[in-house]
Amino acid sequence: MSAIEIAAAVSAGERSASEVVDAHLELIAQRDPELHAYNLVTAESARAEAAAIDARVSTGEVVGPLAGVPLAVKDNMCTKGVPTTCSSKILEGWRPPYDATVVTRLREAGAVSVGKTNLDEFAMGSSTEHSAFGPTRNPHDLSKVPGGSSGGSAASVAAGFTPLGIGSDTGGSIRQPAAFCGVVGMKPTYGVVSRYGLIAFASSLDQIGPFAADVADAAALFDVIAGHDPLDSTSIRDFTPSASAMLDEGVDGLRIGVVKELAGGPGGVPGLAADVLARTAEAVEVLATAGALVDEVSVPSSTLGLSAYYLVAPAEASSNLARYDGVRYGLRVDGPTTPEMTTATRTAGFGTEVKRRIMLGTYALSAGYYDAFYGKALKVRTMMLSDFARVYEDFDVLVAPTTPTTAFELGARTQDPLTMYVNDVCTIPSNLTGHPAISVPFGVGDDGMPVGVQVLAPALHDAQTFRVAAVLEAAS
Ligand code: GLN
Repeated sequence: MSAIEIAAAVSAGERSASEVVDAHLELIAQRDPELHAYNLVTAESARAEAAAIDARVSTGEVVGPLAGVPLAVKDNMCTKGVPTTCSSKILEGWRPPYDATVVTRLREAGAVSVGKTNLDEFAMGSSTEHSAFGPTRNPHDLSKVPGGSSGGSAASVAAGFTPLGIGSDTGGSIRQPAAFCGVVGMKPTYGVVSRYGLIAFASSLDQIGPFAADVADAAALFDVIAGHDPLDSTSIRDFTPSASAMLDEGVDGLRIGVVKELAGGPGGVPGLAADVLARTAEAVEVLATAGALVDEVSVPSSTLGLSAYYLVAPAEASSNLARYDGVRYGLRVDGPTTPEMTTATRTAGFGTEVKRRIMLGTYALSAGYYDAFYGKALKVRTMMLSDFARVYEDFDVLVAPTTPTTAFELGARTQDPLTMYVNDVCTIPSNLTGHPAISVPFGVGDDGMPVGVQVLAPALHDAQTFRVAAVLEAAS
């Protein structure tokens, strides 16, 4: 049953939320030992919340658009009193004193969180292999990664553990695992979904967004979490989510651009696999047949995104992660002086990839290198913004692959960080520009693994991405 169907059945009293939640918890208990999508399953509180929903339904109360729908929450979002780890040892034992705004909104809509999902430590990675608690496996093939960093939420939805999941996307961490796991994943416009209670990685890029098995469920989830939040100073005012309302509008007359540089064109990003490019081309044909006006378009600066991102994101991370000092949160490894205690804590608490990012970031920000690295990256970011603004004068949405390849084998890319970083070459542009983008499953690769196609739109046109994705879903 889809999330929308569950909510309708629970609201109508045809199925109890308790029965729905129990069935999903049962599945998790059976299969999560081999997948490891979850860092923590909160079965007891999930059952209590489900029972409370059933009690409200029985008194005739209207519970909400996601009544009784099991939900997976990425373990970098604060949940009051419930351990929140970012899959890092440094947050060991820490329990947030408050809920993230998205968590509150989803609970108010009737969704039932069944637990906290695995991720690459502090959301830095593309495979969940950088989790301090061990990797998550791809439900379609246990020898493959689910992608990352939100690999746990993607795997939870792909395995049918939960109809819905939430993740965060700083450089592709919702869309890339969605593509690898064959589910829908969407990164909203920066500022459309509140970041309050999302543990910061790179604050100018981080956005929370939905995972679901189909586009309609993803749109329903998006409509619940989007909207202004006074607790997040970067939250956009007056945004009225309308993704579900626009879903059936089709693409007749829509102007759709295929970004050459991200779709195998000359001078574009290298390393895009032939099967992924073939599925993308087929998706474009589907849209043309459905009445869209399709044309190729060049966004030259999109090839520079990866380099700019790996300066901007680590720079911001190096600042954000300074707060894990052995005093304020979680882990402390004692030492004779405060600086020695902090050093010992950070040495023991952070994994290799997080340390690498902190070092890259502090280097890029240091006197003498700031202009050459961080300053240059900001210029590239501005250039990308103006390039995309120009393209969106002629196009309503853009299409590109989500990832260069299908899901790879566990261990295949952990030795050389650069081979891991290139996973996000097609997703990063939307983070640097702050624009919305969705990944929708579209066929499979030569290895039988899912392929994701990406739909990009200008700022605040989030609903358009769902609308186009719905057409692709119907055809695939
Ligand atoms: N894979 C990218 C990184 O490692 C993006 C991560 C993310 O979006 N959180 O930084």
